[in-house]
Amino acid sequence: MSKDINPLDVAKAQIDIVAKEIGLEPRVREYLKRIERALIVTIPILMDDGSMQIFEGYRVHHSTVRGPGKGGIRFSPYVYLDEVKALATWMTWKTSLLNLPLGGAKGGVCVDPKKLSSRELERLTRRYTAEIINFIGPDIDIPAPDVGTDKKIMAWMMDVYSMQKGRTIPGVVTGKPIEIGGSVGRESATGMGLYFVLDALCAKIGLKLEDQTIVVQGLGNVGGTIAQLLYDHGCKILAVSDISTAIYNKSGLNVTKLLDWVNQGNYLKDFKEGNYQFISNDELLTLKCDVLVPAAIENQITQQIADRIECKIVLEGANGPTTPEADKILYKKGIHVVPDILANSGGVCVSYFEYIQDIHSYFWKLERINEELKRIIIEAFEETYKISMERKISLRTAAYIIAVSRISKAIELRGIFP
Ligand code: NAD
Repeated sequence: MSKDINPLDVAKAQIDIVAKEIGLEPRVREYLKRIERALIVTIPILMDDGSMQIFEGYRVHHSTVRGPGKGGIRFSPYVYLDEVKALATWMTWKTSLLNLPLGGAKGGVCVDPKKLSSRELERLTRRYTAEIINFIGPDIDIPAPDVGTDKKIMAWMMDVYSMQKGRTIPGVVTGKPIEIGGSVGRESATGMGLYFVLDALCAKIGLKLEDQTIVVQGLGNVGGTIAQLLYDHGCKILAVSDISTAIYNKSGLNVTKLLDWVNQGNYLKDFKEGNYQFISNDELLTLKCDVLVPAAIENQITQQIADRIECKIVLEGANGPTTPEADKILYKKGIHVVPDILANSGGVCVSYFEYIQDIHSYFWKLERINEELKRIIIEAFEETYKISMERKISLRTAAYIIAVSRISKAIELRGIFP
């Protein structure tokens, strides 16, 4: 893993690439490299033993030109402001690519949630929400889960916001429990979107999905869901990983058993059942396979790793897993990279469905959710694929052309205030 690559530099480099491709006005290009606003908050927490610890949190709005901000909240010891800015920027492109009436935002708290008790985690979430309360809202910015956060945390956030406003406002966050205004299909939405896009790409390039061998980095919400979906579809899952280790079996792993273990809060390194060998993160990423799914964090596929990658498709479950230098290498090697803003956009798509269900107080069935998700994500995929074929460019540059063009058009139509 490369810790010295700043994800914000990556996000800016990506803007430069597309700006050149579409002849974007220099002043718009510079504007898009900036964020609209950022809030840094200090979160003092009374720990269970009576001591106090202080954490730092962020919420960033990259662009609200096409609608309220939208993006997850990350609880991780590695969170820092530039990372949150990059993640917010990527959210802008994602909502734009899907043509959703939303902008891009992101939040984070620099904390290892696994080191807190449930009560401490609740106090941290509630205080963080109180600190950012004027920055969020159904028509301002709607947070959702990301690395290290889940539906329980969204429930606490929704409760704090509602208590302060004096009425129940479910539409302030998405990814909530279904009982309090969450949507069916939200938890599996990102993985489901990955599956729809991979299936569509395999059909385009003449591959049978069920014959593909798979490697998944990160076995959380995104990685776990796509691993299970592909396993159930008959694909051989050669290797998976979490933050503790990676495990490999050339005949294929039993994903259901592994997920049972991990979903009980255990680390992969402590898994003891069946045949497998432990391998390093580096070995995992460079294993010979058909589809590599990075679904952990950013900057995993660096130049050094890209040189040694042996797969047909990189399906970006995580945000920003590939650096621009690595991207060039993969493109030259003829590897199809399905970019994050397309591949993992299922989550924000169903978050949007959750948000409109909350506003209308009318809830859809799972069939409708998955049908509409498939329609929207496949439409974006087809448009992206067509542009990449016509212009002979990567899927990433094609997706960026669509997303950035929509944003720059919105800026042009609205004009610069005052
Ligand atoms: P998660 O917390 O549920 O799972 C993250 C997984 O990655 C875990 O298995 C964890 O052990 C592993 N991991 C964490 N840090 C790591 C590291 N330094 N090295 C190797 N592995 C590491 O998170 P998630 O919601 O599945 O998100 C994963 C990625 O997908 C993130 O980049 C996130 O921004 C992106 N994403 C998530 C969603 C969503 O709906 N949850 C939507 C779009 C994109």
